[in-house]
Amino acid sequence: MSIHRVSLVYTWPVLILCLAAISVLANDESAQSQPSIEKPETITAEQWGTDPLPIPEERRHTPKFITIHHAGVDWVAGSDPYEKIRNLQAWGKKSVEDGGKDWPDLPYHFLIAPDGRIFEGRPVEYEPETNTNYDVNSHIGVQIWGNFQAQRVSPQQVASAVNLVAWLSQEYEVEDAQIGGHRDVAEDTTCPGADFYRYLEDGQFLGWVNQVRAGELPEIDLGPPLEDGPIEMIPLPE
Ligand SMILES: [Zn+2]
Repeated sequence: MSIHRVSLVYTWPVLILCLAAISVLANDESAQSQPSIEKPETITAEQWGTDPLPIPEERRHTPKFITIHHAGVDWVAGSDPYEKIRNLQAWGKKSVEDGGKDWPDLPYHFLIAPDGRIFEGRPVEYEPETNTNYDVNSHIGVQIWGNFQAQRVSPQQVASAVNLVAWLSQEYEVEDAQIGGHRDVAEDTTCPGADFYRYLEDGQFLGWVNQVRAGELPEIDLGPPLEDGPIEMIPLPE
């Protein structure tokens, strides 16, 4: 038998096996057709002019939760989110004796302005900070500016929070049961405020997140004000 004849005999089975493998791979891809969620547009820490202190290595963590906050302070008309985020960082960095918190960087990883702009805060690979009593390790902190005990959350803020949470949960493989509000993990707070918490509580928020995951554009209708909740909409920055 010549060498050519041998190679020809063995080529056909190999070719058939290859074709079979390709078709299995192709089927596999179509079976898991969840579209990949793109990271929403953000204003990076560099863009708003961050000036953090080094965060100690022992504060690195593996994110498993997404925890949503409000600022708990009314958003005043005419406020500038760039100024607000720089002031929050500067105040937190001050020592406790000087009226600060001794925080090396912002207490949250993302902050959402009333017009829906998403600002990046502390790098996600480091645990956040809190004034309340819960273990912050493995939490991604998302803060929505405003006081939703006294102001209504804007539809732009909710839409940005939905897109951000959809992307974060994909990126860090956060389970739906681990997505919630600050008051779900700490007892001593009303955060993230009645007018936002209602959408977490009734499941609408997760429903909108699931629509984004399915590649759909959710129609976010915030409905009428709560009976004993705030009525005034948060003012939008100029
Ligand atoms: Zn909070």
